[in-house]
Amino acid sequence: MASEKKPNAANEPWAFDKPEAVLGKAVVDCHTHTHFSGDSNTSIDQYVTEFEKSGLTHVFVTDHQSIAAFPLLEERLGSRVICGQEQRVAEGEVIGLFLTHKIPPGLTLADASKAIRDQGGIVYLCHPMDSKRFSVDLETLVSSAENRCLDAIELYNSKSASINRQLIEIARKFEIPMLGGSDSHVASAIGSSGAVMPWFDSAPDFLAAVKHATPFGRRCDPRKSWPLQVVPTTSNQDSELAAGRESVL
Ligand SMILES: [Zn+2]
Repeated sequence: MASEKKPNAANEPWAFDKPEAVLGKAVVDCHTHTHFSGDSNTSIDQYVTEFEKSGLTHVFVTDHQSIAAFPLLEERLGSRVICGQEQRVAEGEVIGLFLTHKIPPGLTLADASKAIRDQGGIVYLCHPMDSKRFSVDLETLVSSAENRCLDAIELYNSKSASINRQLIEIARKFEIPMLGGSDSHVASAIGSSGAVMPWFDSAPDFLAAVKHATPFGRRCDPRKSWPLQVVPTTSNQDSELAAGRESVL
């Protein structure tokens, strides 16, 4: 586990660099953003360029309240990019992975979990118990774990200054796999956190693979150095883009 490993050159006690690519293994960043999020300035071109440099084999694009970037990235990256979405729920935020449609707004975590699974997706709890952001608290985390609402938990998030040891204890207790995501709002952060796991080609494969995942991560939260590029997104646009999609791989 993370606590037994050697810290990386950044000299942060919680940080572990992405391992060298291992033949046959997937190296995945589970949490990234584009300018369709509104709070990111990463264009599609920048995202593709940084992904190609990152050493990742797969990436989930998980914009806030939007899946509009996915088809644009899929044109360029093919099956290496997978559709996800970060959605605000009553208790915090959650990410759906392997989505074909948007997660509706205004749900509780339990209802969002159902909405994600109903479309064949995987429930990934991002930055739990992070007091600096709108995040699920300890009580909700434990009750959601008890109710089997979660498929994976984000141990490493590159915007966080530390990892939470209590989170590791809870994940182990309830046997919930731990992963990592850069939460990149700037393109250069893509790939700074993630997980190495057996290769996967579908959501069921991924669910099996995460049981053998090794998360990695380091803090990487550069300031945006240029003004936000405003990209209009509408729910109609997302609905149209999602319509007719039967598979994301
Ligand atoms: Zn995020």
